[in-house]
Amino acid sequence: MTTLWIRNPRAIFTANHSDASNGIVIIDGIIQELVGFGQKPTHIIDQEWDAAEHVVLPGLINTHHHFYQTLTRACPPALNKKLFPWLQTLYPIWAKLTPDAHQVATELAMVELLLSGCTTVADHHYLFPACLENAIDIQANTALALGMRATLTRGSMSLSQKDGGLPPESVVQTEKTILADSERLIRQYHQQDKDGLLEVALAPCSPFSVTPDIMIASAELAETYQVRLHTHLAETEDENAFCLQRFGQRPLDYLDAVGWLHDRTWLAHGIHFNEEEIQRLGAAQTGICHCPSSNMVLASGICRINELKAAGAPVGLGVDGSASNDHSNLMQEVRQALLIQRLRYEADEFTHTDALTLATKGSAQVLGRNDIGEIAVGKRADLALFKLDEPRFSGAHDPLAALVLCGASQADAVMIGGHWKVKNKQWLGGNITELMLRHSRASKTLFSV
Ligand SMILES: [Zn+2]
Repeated sequence: MTTLWIRNPRAIFTANHSDASNGIVIIDGIIQELVGFGQKPTHIIDQEWDAAEHVVLPGLINTHHHFYQTLTRACPPALNKKLFPWLQTLYPIWAKLTPDAHQVATELAMVELLLSGCTTVADHHYLFPACLENAIDIQANTALALGMRATLTRGSMSLSQKDGGLPPESVVQTEKTILADSERLIRQYHQQDKDGLLEVALAPCSPFSVTPDIMIASAELAETYQVRLHTHLAETEDENAFCLQRFGQRPLDYLDAVGWLHDRTWLAHGIHFNEEEIQRLGAAQTGICHCPSSNMVLASGICRINELKAAGAPVGLGVDGSASNDHSNLMQEVRQALLIQRLRYEADEFTHTDALTLATKGSAQVLGRNDIGEIAVGKRADLALFKLDEPRFSGAHDPLAALVLCGASQADAVMIGGHWKVKNKQWLGGNITELMLRHSRASKTLFSV
């Protein structure tokens, strides 16, 4: 068993108040010691890794994505549309997704995230056309092969256009099928690997694509197995209008009525809540995933992060699906969070460290994980190390602020569970050129069939 000392970092953000100015000691994939300013490790060291040029962060954690959408980035028919018409344009294209295309989209999205410093991903996959019934198995195998931590959410759509929903008939499933597959996936993958890589959550897609029955049944199944629940909520005013018209309730009242307002639930977006709803979310400790780029691209609005946090709700960060962002770069998303929140709050009310906290400790809380998201003794050795060696950083003073303000986008080195996954800005697990070639072929095929 090797004892590794990552020593003398140029700067380090622990996401807590601990001093790790002179580095971190890692044994068997776990952080065993923080070395304070001017100190030396107490452990006997086998290997040293000089981080004198690196700004060290806890591995970033993405809490909302749709990997398959990397195949439909910047898609001409969907450009410059708001959420509902944007979805209706893309559903028929997504309905043609094949297992091979889904695999390569998952791999590309995960590697893209990894290269940006992300070590844990959550994907919301709700598309199960015929022949793609094993979509989550494909994602689980890809995550295990890459050695990335993943919360895979078994999404679902059960309310098609003919029943008053938004998606076409070709992409919805019966409730029986959804629930049987959800239970199978929990039993097969949730916390089944020794390295803590895989978790499973249940994720009916949104109020306008599933029935209340599947929301209630998913909540009951999640309670039985103590897994988390995830969905889109309060993303747009159109959604508020839909819920009032169909259910006679605002989205949060609907969520409460179907048994979801508790601390095992996290919600993507969470923009259009009123004061009273924010207090209820806080009291329930329901998590919110802030997706700034997607909210800006689709002109959805601005999440009220500070009010949510003050009320007690955990808030994390997500890039959202790559057809509405359209990148999967979590470090860029940290900067986007800072910029969009500065439009809502005073400059000192949302800082660069607040933005970094969202993507680390905040995201870990949103996923219900206490083993990641911070640099602290006993946490998993998931790290993102950035160099300030590009023209955009030249002349920068505070190294940590520079990462966010100058716009870091590429990690120099990334470690997951003590294993290096990226070094010298290169993915060590495969050939990125070959992966991009396979991915772009799959994207072209999707549009040609
Ligand atoms: Zn989404």
